[in-house]
Amino acid sequence: MKHLSTLRARFALGVAGLLLVALLAFGALVYISLSRSLKAGIDDSLQLSAAQANAAVNIEDGAITVADGIPETSAIAGLQDRGFTIRVLNVAGQVLQAVGPYHALPVATTDIDRAVQRQSFFTTVTASTDGNAVRVYTTPVIEHEHVIGVVQVVRTLEEVEDTQQRLLAVLLISIPMLVSGAAVGGYVLAARALRPIDTITRTARRISAEDLHARLNLPPTDDEVGRLAATFDTMLERLDTSFQRERQFTADASHELRTPLAAMQTILGVIREQRRTPEDYERALDDLAQETNRLRALADDLLHLARGEASLLIGEREVVDLTMLLQDVTDSLAPLAEAKGLNLRCETPHPLLVCGDRDGFIRLFVNLLDNAIKYTEYGGITVRALMGNDSTDVVIADTGIGIATDQLPHVFDRFYRVEASRATQGAGLGLSIAQQIAHAHGSTITVQSATGAGTTFTVRLPRHQ
Ligand code: ADP
Repeated sequence: MKHLSTLRARFALGVAGLLLVALLAFGALVYISLSRSLKAGIDDSLQLSAAQANAAVNIEDGAITVADGIPETSAIAGLQDRGFTIRVLNVAGQVLQAVGPYHALPVATTDIDRAVQRQSFFTTVTASTDGNAVRVYTTPVIEHEHVIGVVQVVRTLEEVEDTQQRLLAVLLISIPMLVSGAAVGGYVLAARALRPIDTITRTARRISAEDLHARLNLPPTDDEVGRLAATFDTMLERLDTSFQRERQFTADASHELRTPLAAMQTILGVIREQRRTPEDYERALDDLAQETNRLRALADDLLHLARGEASLLIGEREVVDLTMLLQDVTDSLAPLAEAKGLNLRCETPHPLLVCGDRDGFIRLFVNLLDNAIKYTEYGGITVRALMGNDSTDVVIADTGIGIATDQLPHVFDRFYRVEASRATQGAGLGLSIAQQIAHAHGSTITVQSATGAGTTFTVRLPRHQ
């Protein structure tokens, strides 16, 4: 029963069922049309023979002469040889002359009555002599507009029935054979076509969140199952990458959290070793405050990353004037630039409307501008907005330390920090957050840089229609 519920068994049964119905219909059609044409052939030959017999009947003075009722002409002899029975009867139903195997067939008075009324017709009766069904053609003999007798031609239907039975036997043997052949063939074909699905099922069972390395690696084929297998492999690849990234993220996050916590423990341990002066306690508290600030900034970043992922689904958007927003961001960070003696400029046309989350945009540009100030020692930073046909580019260019070409592809990774900038405060999350916000708005961030020659970040935002 379990085997019958498999897809291949159902496919095989379906194929066999359809073939059975088609063959039964075809067989019935062949059987009926063959029987009809055989019977029509018999009827034609009976009619023809009756006409020949009718012409050969001897008539004298308006009556059939009994002695020569059916002369043994070659035509009649030929008919007799071919199995025809020919009888000549008078209108009273008496057999005047009869030749052939069924000459003693009983005379039905109704047949004579119909013939007397000038009807020619066929009847089928069972011969008592051999039990065969026989076909009888009855037709009147007419002389000077008067019915003077009746001619009957009889032929057995044995051959027709033999042929019908042979055809039936062929159909009854061949149909079950063809149907079972189709069922087996269908099963084998379906089993072969569905084999990769079994592999997919086994692999899917084996896979757990811990082990996403398994792949089907089936030979590529351009059919439904081949495409399913390829999609399954691609899905596993993506899941694997995303699980690895999550694991890495958790590990990196814990590592980053441990550094300030360890520093705080050390400060507390040292200060509690012995009695200290109030100045020592004050310094220790300042150090602790610095570490808590680091912790809070890190927790904020992590929270933003988590929220950023969720906001891809929520997406509360409004129309934002980018010129005002960029000006505000530049103004808020101007004291930092001034403290380092950097020249900070904001050149944006007015108005410049984009659609998105205002707080998200502020965080995005603050992160980029904060980095530009952090990693620039001399020169200046320019914030520019350029209007394109269907996008707006915000370009933040600095003249800072730059990023080496081999490091460029990694700067957007979470917790990634270029070796040279490790002395500067940060957790390596700013650019990932910026990129996440940009992607959530259907935007892109690109970076161009060379060591010692400065860095340019370009955010391409879709224009608000
Ligand atoms: P961080 O907190 O370290 O600044 P980010 O994700 O913001 O983290 O940046 C990742 C790394 O990319 C930084 O550590 C720094 O090495 C490099 N970087 C980012 N912006 C600049 C820039 N404007 N100039 C030079 N290096 C930069």
